[in-house]
Amino acid sequence: MNAREPLESLDDFIAPARPLQRRSHQAVVRWGANEVTIGGGAPVRVQSMTNTDTVEVIETAIQVKELAIAGSELVRITVNTPEAAAAVPHIREQLDRMGIDVPLVGDFHYNGHRLLTEFPACAEALSKYRINPGNVGKGDKKDRQFAQMVEVAAKHAKPVRIGVNWGSLDQELLAQMMDDNAKLAEPHEPQQIMYRAIITSAVESARRAEEIGLAPGQIILSCKMSGVQDLVSVYRALARRCDYPLHLGLTEAGMGTKGTVASTAALALLLQDGIGDTIRVSLTPQPGEARTQEVVVALEILQSLGLRSFNPSVTACPGCGRTTSTTFQELAKQIDDFLRAQMPVWKSKYPGVETMKVAVMGCIVNGPGESKHADIGISLPGNGEAPAAPVFIDGEKALTLRGEGIAQEFHRIVEDYIEKRFGQAA
Ligand code: SF4
Repeated sequence: MNAREPLESLDDFIAPARPLQRRSHQAVVRWGANEVTIGGGAPVRVQSMTNTDTVEVIETAIQVKELAIAGSELVRITVNTPEAAAAVPHIREQLDRMGIDVPLVGDFHYNGHRLLTEFPACAEALSKYRINPGNVGKGDKKDRQFAQMVEVAAKHAKPVRIGVNWGSLDQELLAQMMDDNAKLAEPHEPQQIMYRAIITSAVESARRAEEIGLAPGQIILSCKMSGVQDLVSVYRALARRCDYPLHLGLTEAGMGTKGTVASTAALALLLQDGIGDTIRVSLTPQPGEARTQEVVVALEILQSLGLRSFNPSVTACPGCGRTTSTTFQELAKQIDDFLRAQMPVWKSKYPGVETMKVAVMGCIVNGPGESKHADIGISLPGNGEAPAAPVFIDGEKALTLRGEGIAQEFHRIVEDYIEKRFGQAA
């Protein structure tokens, strides 16, 4: 065996610590009497975006409501036409009537300068604007139209996300930087220039916005890319070059497992570095899949990293030849579904319940051990084991369940535990 760190050394036996958020600026997003902070040490926020036609007020308001109930803390809607801009205040009113406390963010491209100035009610009803500096106009119009949007944001005291996307990067800026690079005696790799152009577009636009009248705390930056390594490289470089809060997202992540895994890989690497103040998971919904899936994944990323708690977590083993029955899989799913379904009510009724850990295990090999680490756990009998399921509560064996009704009884025990432990705190 090679000489390595001796086993006796405890120096690296430490829980990994996530570096403190380094963003010194904090944005405050307001709607009605509510507000949510972004950056400056605030918890990492979850965002999502609707895919309804914004003109359809009721349909859009319903989807915003679904996304908010799923856990989205900011919801972005596209504002692409005069009709969409006219619909925005009505969507806000509809949400207020439904008691949905979530800020609306307006996504602007190409004509945002006109829509924001010609529809002041839209500018006021939105809590935050997203401006893409690659899509604000070309040539001499670019600076003027960007300034128009920023002036509206300053007038209405709204934060702005300056959101660069490599699919719509400012081509004039990129071409200029590529030309300058080509003239060097030793030109850099085109990829390096591309990264630099993306970051320059974001940071220079933010500086211009400050000159026009936005406070540093009104600015959030993003530089979205669709490749995991590209995104990680760009954000690490961006984080070193500014102090604005950063919005993270792997753009056009794709659908299903691919989109989920790619987004998780990219966001986890950056969040673990302390980079990222808001996140969005840009999943393409599979046919028939709810739009809220992108929120579910975003919450899971933050909870898995231990950055925030949203729902009680259920630990379940994958199963193996020791347990050919599907009882434990069904029970794990039942408990997971039940806990998630109850959370909208429990959030206020049982404060702290979102930190609870439940274990549902398939046999004696890891079952009792994993159950002891959870707040409440059950180890179901595997093949050849006595038909008994020990239940562990707060690390101690509390009772053993037997017979046909194990699942129902465990369900009841979980409910009692929640009532006793978290009900008293209410
Ligand atoms: S706990 Fe038991 S059933 Fe589950 S994976 Fe491990 S050995 Fe298999």
